[in-house]
Amino acid sequence: MFSQESKNMFSKNQKCIALISVHGDPSAEIGKEEAGGQNVYVRQVGEALSRQGWQVDMFTRQADSNQPTIVQHNDRCRTIRITAGPQKFIPRDELFEYLPAFVQGFLKFQRHSGTQYRVVHTNYWLSSWVGMQLKKALSVSQVHTYHSLGAVKYQAISTVPMIASTRLDVEKTLLETAERVVATSPQEKEHMRSLVSTKGNIDIIPCGTDIRHFGSMSKAEARQALGIASDEKVVLYVGRFDPRKGIETLVRAIGRSQALGNEKLRLIIGGGSRPGQSDGIERERIEGIVAELGLAGITEFPGRLSPTVLPTYFGAADVCVVPSHYEPFGLVAIEAMACRTPVIASDVGGLQFTVRSEETGLLVPARDDAAFAEAIDRILSNPAWQQQLGLAARKHVEEKFSWDGVASQLGQLYLQLMQESSQAEITPVSA
Ligand code: UDP
Repeated sequence: MFSQESKNMFSKNQKCIALISVHGDPSAEIGKEEAGGQNVYVRQVGEALSRQGWQVDMFTRQADSNQPTIVQHNDRCRTIRITAGPQKFIPRDELFEYLPAFVQGFLKFQRHSGTQYRVVHTNYWLSSWVGMQLKKALSVSQVHTYHSLGAVKYQAISTVPMIASTRLDVEKTLLETAERVVATSPQEKEHMRSLVSTKGNIDIIPCGTDIRHFGSMSKAEARQALGIASDEKVVLYVGRFDPRKGIETLVRAIGRSQALGNEKLRLIIGGGSRPGQSDGIERERIEGIVAELGLAGITEFPGRLSPTVLPTYFGAADVCVVPSHYEPFGLVAIEAMACRTPVIASDVGGLQFTVRSEETGLLVPARDDAAFAEAIDRILSNPAWQQQLGLAARKHVEEKFSWDGVASQLGQLYLQLMQESSQAEITPVSA
């Protein structure tokens, strides 16, 4: 199943780590069908850890038979795709039944390659279940990042999926039994404590962004590259098409904005994939609202934006809007801020941690299109303040949110757990 070169890469005592992300393939194209922040997080953390001397294996489910089983990102970091269920896209709420096969596939890979992971870092509740099964079979410590909490998510949606009760049970058991849970913001930690369990060990380690890639271009260069005139006012959204992202709130806010009558306004809604894919339903719904409000002439849907072009879009925008109903962290906010673009975000979750209201942008109540309209108008009508917010935003990201900093905090945590488990192995029970 796996090539010869995958064998015997790591020995037991090396700094090696398994990152497990069942549904979020770190090698996938980001921005389409359920591929978003989690994929970016795993890939960036993996690569940054490898730069810091770790051997990193990132395990994900094979969701397409044409994809290679192993993708080598550099000599210390690779994606390994495990066969578990049909080799096609399956929505995450329907993946639970394939997890036992994923566990078996992981164990088989480990046996075959001779690798012994001392720590597995799982991502999202599906992978947390995999990690808990691995702990039964192996001597391994588990670190977990939730990326999204069922207990919070289900408060914000009207139709709860069939899998909800299983997810809530798994998330609670995980918090109480994992060696360490990583909250990406103090707000996420607070949600875990108030809604999931008061037991368990939580560390706060934020998400990061590539501060060399994001922010490399001036606004004038970015606008020239995209053919946007200097007197246009550009409002940008970047992200998946998912009702939780609140794109409707942004569109309705633009419908109410003063700038609509007074300025050359352009709304860019970036992300999403092709019609017929699962996120196409939300995209069609949003396009319907755009048409109904008479905004089709000023609105563009450029589709999925590749990592190469993203800094250009962020750099060209006057303001980036993150109108999510709930956001455990929200990478887009720090990416935009790294590009010196102020962010208007919902006053929820991790966005309260990353966006400093009145300093790097504005926080407004989620789902409140009148409040979003007012915030957009405040920033667009005051270019000097807009620039000041953008500069402060860049500084804030430089100081707090770089992937190298995040990876070094995670690396310290893995080492600490490895040391603790070695000590437990050599300490006699009767001592
Ligand atoms: N993204 C992208 N292209 C797109 C849309 C999104 O590369 O067309 C990236 C975006 O830059 C960010 C990630 O997908 O890095 C989304 O992460 P976030 O935490 O904002 O949201 P999530 O998808 O995790 O809900």
